[in-house]
Amino acid sequence: MADGNFGYISDADERAMLDAIARWIEKKVAPVAIQLEHDNVWPADLVNDMVEMGLFGAIIHPDYGGLGLSATTYARIVTMIAEEWMSLTGIFNSHLMMATVVQKFGTDRQKDYWLPRFASGEMRGGLGLTEPDAGTDLQAIRTVARRVGDRYVVNGTKTWISNAIEGHCVALLVKTDPEAQPRHKGMSMLITPKIDPETRAPLKGVSNGKKLEKLGYKGIDSGEFIFEDYECDADLCLVGGEEGKGFVMATGGLEIGRVNIAARSVGIAKRALAESVKYAQMRKTMGKPICEHQAIQLKLGEMAAKTRAAELLTQDAAAAFDRGERIDMEAGMAKYFASETAVEVSLEAMRIHGGYGYSKEYVIERLYRDAPLMCIGEGTNEMQRIIIAKQLVARNRV
Ligand SMILES: Cc1cc2nc3c(=O)[nH]c(=O)nc-3n(C[C@H](O)[C@H](O)[C@H](O)COP(=O)(O)OP(=O)(O)OC[C@H]3O[C@@H](n4cnc5c(N)ncnc54)[C@H](O)[C@@H]3O)c2cc1C
Repeated sequence: MADGNFGYISDADERAMLDAIARWIEKKVAPVAIQLEHDNVWPADLVNDMVEMGLFGAIIHPDYGGLGLSATTYARIVTMIAEEWMSLTGIFNSHLMMATVVQKFGTDRQKDYWLPRFASGEMRGGLGLTEPDAGTDLQAIRTVARRVGDRYVVNGTKTWISNAIEGHCVALLVKTDPEAQPRHKGMSMLITPKIDPETRAPLKGVSNGKKLEKLGYKGIDSGEFIFEDYECDADLCLVGGEEGKGFVMATGGLEIGRVNIAARSVGIAKRALAESVKYAQMRKTMGKPICEHQAIQLKLGEMAAKTRAAELLTQDAAAAFDRGERIDMEAGMAKYFASETAVEVSLEAMRIHGGYGYSKEYVIERLYRDAPLMCIGEGTNEMQRIIIAKQLVARNRV
């Protein structure tokens, strides 16, 4: 079974779903986004709405209670929501990356156990890769899981984990053989709940430390995961039931995550552009709207072309994923270009808005603060260009 390219809903159902989400954004998200973001409040009501709309199961197979959306539809939804408040997309997308690990690599028992709980939003979480001394260089992680009978005992610290505090579990990259050479052969992926999935009682040996403060991406919690002799059931938790596969799961298996970051970036850029087109017609200087000054026209033209190109690259990667193709190069291109575009377009939008762009009463300053994260998450843009280049050579050998 492929990971997410199901497309189980008809075109009519897809339109109905996109319409319902558009109405929800307008009625429920738009009125509160600015305030909740500035207050850095986890948006409990909006999360409940997203649970009810099935977004926590968006790309989980219908056999497990998910919506089984195609990557193309999923990317469209992410872009729409990110146009209003990008942080919301992080709450269900980090969760879906955890779910994708199980869906793509888990044993039948693990899928039967975890996926319905993930799809319903009953157990929410994220992806736990990064550590204080290891981000890009994931093979340098130090979190260790040792097998003791039918259990794993985990020790180590993860940081920067989205949904760490409000979530209930995490897909955790660990070393099961710290001495292995090459290093990636000693890495495995575990599903590690903070609460008992059945009784919902807190489990021992895991805590979250402090909530991390950020430039943007507020609302969603980013935190640490500290494991101290934490124990979990090996059969349920070791994804795929085999040690040594974690690095592949974390790096090669999650191209959909990069499509997702690209889609979020497109949302940021589209909103910044739309606000700029509006504002440039309303703001007058030297007796005419600023959209009639050539300096502003040059900006708008470039912003529009780049935003559209980012959207098309994202749709292209999502469509290739839906056809079941390998998309590391396409997803890398979309993620790289769309995120750089989000940064550029949000800054240009700020210039077009003049002093008002710097005001906390306008959405532009938030787009400007949110955009840079898109260049860092799901593999930095430095790494994306390296991935693209390697694929270019691999696909065009002389
Ligand atoms: C708000 C936020 C949310 C996050 N959410 C999550 C999450 O949910 N789960 C999770 O696991 N992590 C998460 N992260 C962590 C994120 O994935 C890492 O920050 C990212 O992978 C970069 O790692 P680093 O910060 O350790 O930077 P480093 O790896 O130290 O990199 C520093 C710089 O060096 C460059 N660099 C590093 N190695 C190379 C190389 N070989 N060649 C060229 N350039 C290189 C990088 O591109 C970067 O510019 C989050 C981070 C933030 C800020």
